[in-house]
Amino acid sequence: MTHSPEASPTTLEQEREEQLRWKLLPQYSGLPLFDRLVENEFLPQEVHQQQQLQRLRKIIQYARDFIPYYQTGDSSMYQIGKLSDLSRLPILTKQEVIDHFKTLQCAHLPRGGKAGGITSSSGTTGRPVSVAQTERSMRMFSIFRQREARWFRQDPTALAARMRFPQTFPRQKNGSLLANGETYTRKRWSHQGLYFETGPEVCCNVENTREWQIEWLKKHRPKYLESPPTIFEELIMANNQKKPVDSLECLVGIGTVVTDSMRSIIERIFEIPIHQNYGMNEAGIVAARCSAQRYHIHTEHCFIEIVDQDGLPVKPGETGRVIVTPFKNLQMPLLRYDTGDLAIAVEGACPCGRTLPSIGTIVGRYWRYASLPEGSFKRFMAIYNTMKWMPPELLVNLRQNQVHLYRDMRFEIRLRTVGPLSPEFYKRITARWIEAAGESEKELLSFKEVDHIEGSPGGKHLEFSSDFFSDEDRKITNVDI
Ligand SMILES: [Zn+2]
Repeated sequence: MTHSPEASPTTLEQEREEQLRWKLLPQYSGLPLFDRLVENEFLPQEVHQQQQLQRLRKIIQYARDFIPYYQTGDSSMYQIGKLSDLSRLPILTKQEVIDHFKTLQCAHLPRGGKAGGITSSSGTTGRPVSVAQTERSMRMFSIFRQREARWFRQDPTALAARMRFPQTFPRQKNGSLLANGETYTRKRWSHQGLYFETGPEVCCNVENTREWQIEWLKKHRPKYLESPPTIFEELIMANNQKKPVDSLECLVGIGTVVTDSMRSIIERIFEIPIHQNYGMNEAGIVAARCSAQRYHIHTEHCFIEIVDQDGLPVKPGETGRVIVTPFKNLQMPLLRYDTGDLAIAVEGACPCGRTLPSIGTIVGRYWRYASLPEGSFKRFMAIYNTMKWMPPELLVNLRQNQVHLYRDMRFEIRLRTVGPLSPEFYKRITARWIEAAGESEKELLSFKEVDHIEGSPGGKHLEFSSDFFSDEDRKITNVDI
């Protein structure tokens, strides 16, 4: 397994070798694109910088020439002599994308360009942010899913499984969404199979019970499983802290950030690595996580900045907002789009051996927490981490949990159980709570046994809910790519 951070660095030769396992479909035979991606991963830093600068200039000039939204304002800020000049351009907020949906688009795509539909994601005020894509920008999703599958050392001939929200699967023949209890089988993997010969894929609705899903996994015995990462934790809980199936070789967590504590429990119990990419529906997949735990940017596809409140780059080791400028979407180019995520900037060569620029830990969505009173997120994390680091024997009988913050600052830990929990479970959380909040606020923490935990309409389980979050925030918490 290559998931240990000490794994030896990869090399260009190894990646070329790995890419040979992937056979292009006959209609793409001879396509040099994927081999070029391999080579790009090891270019010298200066070449990456030069290429990023050229791609940025190109998309900025295009936006200036063809996109009404970018045709006003001082033309000097669109002159990019070096990468740092980019910070002269204003940051594009989610709200601005919503308000200027029409003027951010070009009237006619350049020759050869084809519209590719609309992707949507969550917005700060609750309204979804929609972005019109080109056929080409939509294909980027599949292209970079293949790059990451190579990095994750997946065997393309194997059986893969996906547990996702039914909206992400094609509708059934009768027009309905994939129902609970049903299996949708594809001849090839959904993304990578667009370009490559792959093994088959089985899919089921994430809203099935975890008990049903465990049986389903035992029946199909896939080598890979892709799902929102909280599902992996719930599968463990539903199986009394044991590995649900022994056929799996890696997990791919989709949509939400996997925290260190979550990763630790999932990898320990499943005994396999959990891999992740980073992306958003508005901009596509922008990075993939390597064995050294950095997220490498797909520089062919976008430019990423991590900035402070003034829109200037933060120093390595500091946390800032993730700003993305995608290169390929000529229908609706977004320049310096504010993703709503926070990440830690890093510097220097990555121990994994790849030279693609990288970012460190992705902290998550800052706008969700921006509305919380000071100190409350820290208190939530204290409870959350205590639960995640709990020895497995204390979690037997626990099936789901959620921390809820009321407007009067009371925290309620909601527990769905199938039997009593150890007194030690309550003791540990209470002790940590007193440490974080102080003895005087001891009474602000309570536990409640529940039969059901409220998620989003898609059934997504929310580990942290609060009356301070708007209803829309609660509904749309994650991208689904
Ligand atoms: Zn790396």
